[in-house]
Amino acid sequence: MPSRIAVRSKLPKVGTTIFSVMSQLAAEAGAVNLGQGFPDFAVPEFLVDSVTLAMQEGRNQYAPMQGLPALREAIADKTAMSYGARPDPETEITVTSGASEAVFCAILSVIRAGDEVIVLDPCYDLYEPAIELAGGACVHVPLRALDFSIDWRRLGEAVTPRTRMIIVNSPHNPTGAVWSAADVAQLAALTRGTELLVLADEVYEHIVYDGRRHESVLRNAELAARSFVVSSFGKTYHCTGWRTGYCVAPARLTDELRKVHQYNTFGSFAPAQWAFTGMLRAHPEHHLGLSDFYQPKRDHFAARLARTRLTPLPVRGGYFQIVDYSAVSDLPDVDFARWLCIEHKVAAIPLSPFYGQAQEGQRLVRLCFAKHQETLDAGIARLERI
Ligand code: GLN
Repeated sequence: MPSRIAVRSKLPKVGTTIFSVMSQLAAEAGAVNLGQGFPDFAVPEFLVDSVTLAMQEGRNQYAPMQGLPALREAIADKTAMSYGARPDPETEITVTSGASEAVFCAILSVIRAGDEVIVLDPCYDLYEPAIELAGGACVHVPLRALDFSIDWRRLGEAVTPRTRMIIVNSPHNPTGAVWSAADVAQLAALTRGTELLVLADEVYEHIVYDGRRHESVLRNAELAARSFVVSSFGKTYHCTGWRTGYCVAPARLTDELRKVHQYNTFGSFAPAQWAFTGMLRAHPEHHLGLSDFYQPKRDHFAARLARTRLTPLPVRGGYFQIVDYSAVSDLPDVDFARWLCIEHKVAAIPLSPFYGQAQEGQRLVRLCFAKHQETLDAGIARLERI
């Protein structure tokens, strides 16, 4: 309906996310969708049965705002098993409606007008709008060009008296870079003796390759004491649509996060919380098999990509493969991704939306390999023709 009301956007730079844009284009073009990151294989049957049972048993009313107590207990045990320290389920764990909600609430709960928040480019597209809605300023520091590692000197130079938070992400979306223990030590050194907070996006924590270990900031007591650490059941149990994640943070930070969470979603989808509780108790080993589950996919995909005119870059964690298409085209990445989707029926995600400022001359797109082998092979067959 027509409206004369003038709306001054609070997020003038934001349009529809590149993930939605490419998924829609993929559907219209009939493309193999290797763009938006979501698995195309089944959720563990135990979980589907458990969520169904939870609904049949009447677990359909509000869950507690902070998450089901039994689920928070199970998360505390899983965290202790994974990272050696057990957060207090009462005061340090909050179940959220997806990891995105945790990130969003964490930022809104502590960032004020004038605060600076440092992000490392390329970075996930949600951070900057959340910082801006909080009234903060997003300060973009680039990762190193070839391996997407952190330039600690440059990061240190970006810290000012107004810096309130640093956002880190390992395993990294979109590049597949993974932190080393030295990176954790560097972050601890950089923040020591300061009031800096850390937001650690660790949603791909259980997907790391070649025998690596995920270097969670929760392994480091000093960092854990100043960090919001965000995890995702969607990534771990192949159910991104269930929108359930959680945040581990010291009580004082958790208190603030919960103030936002309780007026944002209040509580998260109750049947899923019952189901994840059952899953963590009945199959505490599930997540331990994820790296071995994904590594052959990564290897198969990269080996076949290497025989196309696209050049795959190394992937150390997560389920995204970056490819360099400079041998194929000189188009900027957004145009290339459109062309690839429409002309060759493969959807990819261009990298420039992950940057504060598009990288001149960079010819990279992201492909998701959290797919059945047949899906990957169907995509490859098309990519071989370009
Ligand atoms: N995390 C997913 C990705 O990186 C996208 C989620 C979304 O579409 N908002 O592809």
